[in-house]
Order: sequence, then C-alpha cells, then structure tokens
Amino acid sequence: MIIMKFGGATLQSAKHLTHVAQLIQQRQHRQPVVVVSAIGETTNTLEEASSRAVAGNCDIEAITAFHRSICDQLTIDVTPVNALLTALERILRGVSLVGELSPRSYDSIVSYGEQLSATILASLLHIQGMEARPCHSGDLGLITDGCHRNAKILDSSYVQLNASLAQLTAAGIIPVVTGFIGRSSDGATTTLGRNGSDLSAAILGAAVGAEEVQLWKDVAGIMTADPRRVQGALPIERLSFDEASEMAYFGAKILHPSCIVPAMQASVPVRVCCVREPHLPGTAISKESSAASRAVKAIHTKNEQVMVDITSTRMLGQAGFLGRVFSIFAELDISVDVIATSEVSISLTLDSDSHISDLRDRLGQFACVEIEPEVTIVNFIGCHQSPSNFLSEALEIFRDHDVDVLMISHGASKVNTNVIVRDSEIMRCLQQLHDGMIVNLRTAPQQN
Ligand code: ASP
Ligand code: MG
Repeated sequence: MIIMKFGGATLQSAKHLTHVAQLIQQRQHRQPVVVVSAIGETTNTLEEASSRAVAGNCDIEAITAFHRSICDQLTIDVTPVNALLTALERILRGVSLVGELSPRSYDSIVSYGEQLSATILASLLHIQGMEARPCHSGDLGLITDGCHRNAKILDSSYVQLNASLAQLTAAGIIPVVTGFIGRSSDGATTTLGRNGSDLSAAILGAAVGAEEVQLWKDVAGIMTADPRRVQGALPIERLSFDEASEMAYFGAKILHPSCIVPAMQASVPVRVCCVREPHLPGTAISKESSAASRAVKAIHTKNEQVMVDITSTRMLGQAGFLGRVFSIFAELDISVDVIATSEVSISLTLDSDSHISDLRDRLGQFACVEIEPEVTIVNFIGCHQSPSNFLSEALEIFRDHDVDVLMISHGASKVNTNVIVRDSEIMRCLQQLHDGMIVNLRTAPQQN
C-alpha cells in the first residue's frame, strides 16, 4: 500500500486534477490510499468567509462558483458537491446570526475545503474507470482530542484506521481521504493545524505500515537551499528522518515540522514527489541517510531572529544556573531555538522579540543581558561525517566575505550545525557557501 498525498497547489484547477488522477491511475497496482488538501487556496477563502460571517455577512458565492466550475469542466456530477456547499452555508449562516465564531465552528467550516476536494477527486477517478470513494478521515477512525484548530490524534486511532483502510483497499476501492481534519470522540470535526494534511498522510502511512508515504507537491523536492535566495539550488536525493525534521524547522518550509513524526516512529519511508516531474525521484526520507555522505546536504537560513547573550560570573561552578535561566523563559512562554553555552555565558536565539523587555528585567536581576536583534540562523544539514572539515570551509567563506560569526551550535543530533550571523551580512556569502559546499561536491541527480 502507498499513501499519495496531494497538496492544494497540485489540485488548483480542473487541469491539475486531471493530471493528479492520471498519477493515481499509473500507481493503482501499488494500492494507493489518496489524501487531499483543499483545492488551491480554498482554506484561506473559507477562513475569510468565516470572518465575514462573524460580521454578519454570509456569502459563499466565490467558493461555490469555483468548485462548481471545476465540476463542470471535469464533467462530473455536481450533486454531492452541492450538498456539501449547502451544509457549509448553513453553518456560516449560524455564525452570522450569533456573530461569534467558536473554535469548533471554525473547524467545521474550514473542513469543507478538504471534504469538497475529496469528493471531486473521487468522482473524477470514478468517471475514469477507477473504484474510488471520498472519505472523511473521522469516518475511517482518525479520532483526535477536543482541542479545536490544533487537535492531536488519539493513539487508539491507528488500529481503527488500519482496519478501515485495509477493508476498502482489499475491495479494490481507492480511498480518497480528507487531509488536515479528524473528529473528536464527541463527533465534532476537528483540524490538526494549518498545513496539517502532510501529517494526516504520515498518520495513515503509519497506521497501515505503508510501503511509502508520497507527498506530492509542485516543487522538485526538498531543496539544498531556498531557490529564492540562492541560484542553482537542487533537490536533495536522500535525507534521514533526523535531517528532515531539523530542516523542516529551519527554513525548508515545504514540510510541516511535526508531519513526519508518525512515519518516523513507524519507520515508514516518506518521499516528496513533484507533480510536474513525476519521473524524477524527488527527495526520499527514511531511517538511514545516504551512505557515507561527507558533504553538507543543505544550507537554509532563517532571518529576523533575536540573539540573547546572558553572562554571569556567578554561573561559574554553580549547579542549577541553567535551570534558573530557562525557568524564566518557560514562565514567559518564550521558546528558545539555537543555544550555545560556556562556563560563564549562554547565547541563544528566539524567533520573536515579544516579551523581550520582561525577559531583560527578569534575567537582569542576576546576569548581564545583551540583545542583538536582526540575526540569521544559517543551518547546515547532513555534515555529520566530517564536522571539522565542513566547519573550517564554512568559516573561511564567512571570513573572506567579512561576515561576523556571532555563535556556533553543533546539535546533539550531529546532523545539524547552526551558525548565527547578522541579517545585513548573510547575503554577502550565502551563494558562495552553497556553491562551494554543495554544488561542487555533488553529482547530478539520477533519473528513475
Ligand atoms: N488545507 C489546509 C491548509 O491550507 C491543510 C493543508 O493544506 O495541508 O492549511
Ligand atoms: Mg493548503
């Protein structure tokens, strides 16, 4: 069994949907379970419609026209789509009457994006001769806690999901499952957080012990760098789960950070595939990294970060100092990203400067605090074989371009090294870092 998850951009028009149907058809022998996001930007449109409803304005004309026109172009029966649109309108009308949007109503409203796309894609597969069925993931057994807008799956779901999906696929049916949503045990529709349909795919993959979870996107794979900032960025062929999860956080926005956790725990391989170039291998993510890779695999950056330097001579030889410092971060609900410590100082980065003056006051009672705003985390992934080689090369490039290194942190996972520099200086050397450390060391990607 394989999971084939399609993101909103890959489904954005009748033409895109037809292409997706073809990709599914070609993989029918691998028993696909399809997972879909909402078509195009529908989730955003639904969010806007819910805000307008709170203001007393119930209007789903744009959503209706868009989905109906796709049905017309695909020549599929519009009846089930109309039924969903009517139900959606009823909820929006309710919201407009009470003038209030509860998290429960929000989830119910935005869930229609995925319900519409699953219904449309299943009908399309059907008229092309495949046995397909649209499925609300909650009906298959994806049960979550009741934390609307950010629900967590209950462990008991996995057994039920496995049973329902096995039954459908054994009957030769292709399930077309709503990503992003689930259902709480009291029957209300919940959502897993924006961009949550990768997570849905990983959950289903873990539940059925899939051969592979394929995340189909309109990009060539996970890239060696952000193509908007670096010329000649390439798709990465192989990543380990550790590398992928570190990257998801540090700038490679194409994966939801927590999305691969269920696949990782179940050792189910994940592949990021590109709808525009389906013959290419994309990026494979599995337990093992590529054999004996000495090279850095990716360089991503995260700018507009805040660096905090905390120095205290009282820290010298003191047990519990770090605990004291971090309890303040916890109390102020500030999450720390990169960190490096020495005997008398701690340097760390935060991704926002909210609460910064409270932080300064609290820490200032026993330490000297310096704040440096506008710094960039430069994240090097996959350098575990030779951190000393790669670091000397990187530092040389920073030095040659007059870029000050403010902090270095080599993570416990050993696949991840972060270097902190100023926002104003990084673009002087990012291209050279990528050219020197990745492009020159790589052979061209192989076709399959
Ligand atoms: N449609 C949802 C969103 O846009 C989920 C997803 O795309 O993964 O957030
Ligand atoms: Mg989306």
